[in-house]
Amino acid sequence: DGFGISLIYQDGIFVTGSTRGNGRIGEDVTQNLKTIESIPLRLRFDLLGRSNLPDSVEVRGEVFMEKKDFEKFKEKYANPRNLAAGSIRQLDPKVASARPLKFLAYDLVTDLGQKKHSQKHQILKELGFKSEAGKVCSKLSEVVSYWRAIAKKRETLPYQIDGVVINVNDNAFFQRLGVAGKSPRGVRAFKFSPKQATTKIQDVKVQVGRTGAVTPIAILQPVEVGGVTISRATLHNEDEIKRLQVKIGDTVIVERAGDVIPAVTKVLKELRSGREKEFKFPRTCPVCSTNLQKPKEEAVWRCPNLSCGARKREFLQYFASKKAFDIDGLGPKIIDQLVDENLISQPADIFELKEGDLIPLERFAEKSAKNLVEAIQKRKKIPLARFIYTLGIRHVGEETAINLAQYFGSINNLEKTTKEELEVIPDVGGKVAQSIHQWFQSKRNQKLIEDLLKVGVKILPPEKVARTLAGKTFVLTGSLESITRSEAQKKIRLLGGHPSSSVSKETDYLVAGSEPGSKLDKAKKLGVKIINEKEFLGMAK
Ligand SMILES: [Zn+2]
Repeated sequence: DGFGISLIYQDGIFVTGSTRGNGRIGEDVTQNLKTIESIPLRLRFDLLGRSNLPDSVEVRGEVFMEKKDFEKFKEKYANPRNLAAGSIRQLDPKVASARPLKFLAYDLVTDLGQKKHSQKHQILKELGFKSEAGKVCSKLSEVVSYWRAIAKKRETLPYQIDGVVINVNDNAFFQRLGVAGKSPRGVRAFKFSPKQATTKIQDVKVQVGRTGAVTPIAILQPVEVGGVTISRATLHNEDEIKRLQVKIGDTVIVERAGDVIPAVTKVLKELRSGREKEFKFPRTCPVCSTNLQKPKEEAVWRCPNLSCGARKREFLQYFASKKAFDIDGLGPKIIDQLVDENLISQPADIFELKEGDLIPLERFAEKSAKNLVEAIQKRKKIPLARFIYTLGIRHVGEETAINLAQYFGSINNLEKTTKEELEVIPDVGGKVAQSIHQWFQSKRNQKLIEDLLKVGVKILPPEKVARTLAGKTFVLTGSLESITRSEAQKKIRLLGGHPSSSVSKETDYLVAGSEPGSKLDKAKKLGVKIINEKEFLGMAK
């Protein structure tokens, strides 16, 4: 699956190279082709041992890029073929030479004495070209089994292919078969079945990669493609969205080519209902809200905030960790990989992963993909305290999270609370209350919770605390050793009691620390029960 070109050699020297569209000679791209190592500048005629060589020799073949070399470019180009074509048509040979392009010859147009197509491949090699020899088959069933064998090997080949070409091997017979339209009858492309499916786009999300590249991802109605279920497909970039004219709600064709992330390749506009929604590509980063940037000549918007990608990764890693959602098998390395592949960028994305999203990835097989998806689904139910801790709010540790859960009972109540009310909670001082309040004020954080609930995360309410101090009034006096006075008051409230500042007949307990003041005398006079710090803490457990 490369880019077809034709090469002309005069007296053995490469003189002209041109693009070939539909069998016609196209643009002259000689200078760029000269930068490709596997295109010989001089033919090795000497090895052929032929005395009467023609002045001019024409060789055809394809310029392509190997899959591993394409990795570096995949953010900007849809596939290696587009990149190879774009590079060859570059006006600046320096750009072309910087790209690791290769050439495979498949046809020798000039008569150098070959009687068979297979001999062409032989001669091309002797001339100094790289060429895939293929296989000479003696009957059609052999052709089919060769095609099957290559289809099986397809993923492991260094380059992308979309099928096998079948040539009539006898050149004389090839000529006699003639031409139908523009294509010779003696040659046929035997394509592999495309890995395609039709489904609906439920939403479009943008994800920020490690380099800050912002990629739009179509969230699909789960669909089976080539034997696995997928739930998302890349839309590459803003230009691609414009080119496809894709809208949310559209019915589309998705394709899973080889081991790359599935892509939306076509919109079936005739199936529109009129309720489809335009997708507006954001101008600010969905992770850190920084204004996105895009150089004019590029297609990809980027978040210029260097700490953005790293921060997001750290948060996702924390989110899946033992102390938070505790998802088995979703360690930092896997998180990195999923972020790199644009499969996750927000915590909610984790819960939408399907086996088919994971199987194409390195390190994943069907079994491990299934295990991870199961492990994720198992953790969808989470106790409120753990959920609060998982949000990663500054100054909110496990202990504080438990207290918040006990007091508020639901994430909704916590979201709506005031700074003043927060300060009632044990462990929560002014700074912590401020931090919690601020966290819940942020639209992005509200959406984070909303999205988690939307994908089916269930937050379990805390078990009721025994309100062991219900109805009891406490007065504190003197200094306490292991707990501050305000913390002690909070504990009393949390357990249903009332802290009071002055002793009266209504006082049930006086908690006396060291160096108690006049309150102790008054309590004694009124017959109020006096307890020490240790006794109090025992009651307030
Ligand atoms: Zn950002």
